Amino acid sequence: MQISDELIRGVVEEVLTHMRNGQALSKNAATPASVLPAGQWGVFDDVNSAVAAATKAQKAFDSMGIAARKKAVDCVRKVCIDNAEMLGREEFEETKIGRLKDKVQKLTVCAEKTLGVEWLRTEAYAGDFGLTVQEFAPFGVVGIVTPVTHSLPTLAGNAINILAAGNSLVCNPHPGGAKIACRGAQLFNQAIHKAIGVDSLINVIRTPTLESAKAIFDHRDVKLLCVTGGPAVGRAALRSPKRAIVAGPGNPPVVVDETADLENAAKSIVEGAAYDNNLLCIGEKEVFAVAGIFDELMEAMTRYKAVRLNNEQIAKLTKAAFIRGEGEASKLAVNKELIGLDAAVLAKHAGLNVPVDTELLFGETDEAHPFVDHEQMMPFLPFVRVPDAGTAIALAKKYEHGFRHTAVIHSRNVDTITKMGREMDVTLYVQNGPSTASLGAGGEGYLSFSIATPTGEGVTTPLTFTRQRRSTTAAGGMRVM
Ligand code: NAD
Repeated sequence: MQISDELIRGVVEEVLTHMRNGQALSKNAATPASVLPAGQWGVFDDVNSAVAAATKAQKAFDSMGIAARKKAVDCVRKVCIDNAEMLGREEFEETKIGRLKDKVQKLTVCAEKTLGVEWLRTEAYAGDFGLTVQEFAPFGVVGIVTPVTHSLPTLAGNAINILAAGNSLVCNPHPGGAKIACRGAQLFNQAIHKAIGVDSLINVIRTPTLESAKAIFDHRDVKLLCVTGGPAVGRAALRSPKRAIVAGPGNPPVVVDETADLENAAKSIVEGAAYDNNLLCIGEKEVFAVAGIFDELMEAMTRYKAVRLNNEQIAKLTKAAFIRGEGEASKLAVNKELIGLDAAVLAKHAGLNVPVDTELLFGETDEAHPFVDHEQMMPFLPFVRVPDAGTAIALAKKYEHGFRHTAVIHSRNVDTITKMGREMDVTLYVQNGPSTASLGAGGEGYLSFSIATPTGEGVTTPLTFTRQRRSTTAAGGMRVM
């Protein structure tokens, strides 16, 4: 065999990549491998082939029973846990947004806290007339769309729920996170195939486009949709001819009143808003604090690695962070180039140098500020001074924009807490903690990276992806008591 310079360069590069990735791997981790050609292990170039493979796989899977579902779900969990460092790094390198350590953590918590087959419980009614059994059956193939902010965690979390319910899936990922989605699908399918002999339960379109999303939405063999993202994808899915579960955008407000534990409030606000550089849809996006404690709260923030910007610095950052389009798109919009940047990098856009380990930037703005109005998804938090808790709640309601997503309050006044909960009418309402507590981090409960807000399913579970079926034995039959 002829050994060319090119071949040697290729081998050396591959070895170096292995070594670099290997430093971060756990001992059970999969060997890094480049993405395989389309048509293998769930990676497809076209929607028809992906749906055909998913349909065939689901039929085989459906006949295998609950134990096989559990095995498949366990494979997804194990791949995420064993390869969290490597996959988190690959996602970070591809998307270039957020924080590496949070990308890694999102994979492990998703694997540990997303609900599986244990959540499916058959209901039964027995009486004089016999027995009725209510079971939760699969839909078949579920079409999903995932966001760039958590490409693989959303695919993995959706896969755990969807497979637990006995379905297969076809995913149109965000183009900016498509490689990592394909990579995850390969590893999941390989592990599942080894465990139960079925391939292609989890399928990803390698080069996703709006057309491939539409082809999934319209495909007759896709029985249910679950889309996670901003307003456009939610609208598109709801226009499709089948049922859609929509995990839509948020702009979570925080209210802080004069009864709050300010130290806990500041610590919690930093923790929630700084997570993955404020990419989370549940992350704190603007704060309405009453005048009586406003200055004290601002001071407390600085004790948790948050750096306060002055008016001039906020104006400079605002100019960089928002852009105005032309024609129909002439509305102000968030500059995507700044989304998910580290606080220290963002600070440079405000004309400031801050320590690299700065968690968050913050500052006082008025109510009608773009940082209040928009879901900025970057680690700068605007604080608005308000006369009282009633005004704070009214503004929180206004700037949540009716998304009915997430809201946070720091207060010890039960009446104020109750009033805000009722008025906001959101899917996730957090009191006296970081927004992340609502998904089980320092709070109770399970996790999903798809929080179905406009369509009302809430934090998705395997049950979200099931059809209820009833079997009735009449005339006193099958009742054994
Ligand atoms: P995005 O809306 O730009 O994209 C989301 C996905 O939708 C991508 O795969 C994209 O390619 C696709 N898409 C966009 N427009 C489409 C259309 N017209 N037809 C079909 N597909 C379309 O959002 P993003 O930047 O990837 O993610 C951030 C957004 O997602 C934020 O608004 C955030 O609040 C939201 N989000 C919500 C949840 C939730 O659980 N509710 C979770 C994560 C993110």
